[in-house]
Amino acid sequence: MRRPLVMGNWKMNGRRCTAQSLLSAVAAEAATFSDVDVVVCPPHVYLGLVGDRLGGCPSIACGAQDVSAYVDGAYTGEVSAEMARDMGCEFAIIGHSERRTLFGETDGVVAQKFARALAADMTPVLCVGETAEERDAGRTREVVLRQIDAVFATCGARAFARAVVAYEPVWAIGTGRAASPDEAQAVHRDIRDAVARHDPEAAAGLRILYGGSVKAQNARELFARADIDGGLIGGASLIADDFVGICRAA
Ligand code: PGA
Repeated sequence: MRRPLVMGNWKMNGRRCTAQSLLSAVAAEAATFSDVDVVVCPPHVYLGLVGDRLGGCPSIACGAQDVSAYVDGAYTGEVSAEMARDMGCEFAIIGHSERRTLFGETDGVVAQKFARALAADMTPVLCVGETAEERDAGRTREVVLRQIDAVFATCGARAFARAVVAYEPVWAIGTGRAASPDEAQAVHRDIRDAVARHDPEAAAGLRILYGGSVKAQNARELFARADIDGGLIGGASLIADDFVGICRAA
């Protein structure tokens, strides 16, 4: 009942020409992954270009990598959720671990951004995940549920009926060391159970993505697990063949 979703997070990479050639290559293969929702998340400055290019490819949607916690106004350098929506973004990545660790985003700020994305009629993609130290200390479940609870507190559990969650263990991001399918499935189950305690219907329909060193080679085994509904892909989303392979695996 949950349609698979694969999202490419380009992070701060590429130029106009590479964005164009990557999109053309992925769009040319779109017919081979027609049962999967596919989203690309370029840097904000390239949203217009990507939106124009995707105009001819309705099966691939556009997402923002982040949105401001504020509404429009005197916030130099910020991009509001309303602006991203205006540029055609249907999804917004919220609380990626790089935002949390490098840019100091707290659980509270993340919850605020989640609310802004919803208010702008976008689907927030809430990223949660533990660091290597937290994992070694056996605190994975506690950390992930705390990150989810912060959003419950601000937006309510019903909000998860209109959201996506991405479990991204920090130690797996960009390291080439993905969580094992069993390990990821266990955390995905914990996330779904936590949402179900508040809102069983939202939990049943909630798409929970895995992110962290997903490649064409390991995607199929990860996505085969009951509670893994697709992936949030970093490095491999910049290489057309790899990204297309992951989309097909879903
Ligand atoms: P990665 O990044 O696929 O390069 O590990 C995932 C992410 O940060 O979303």
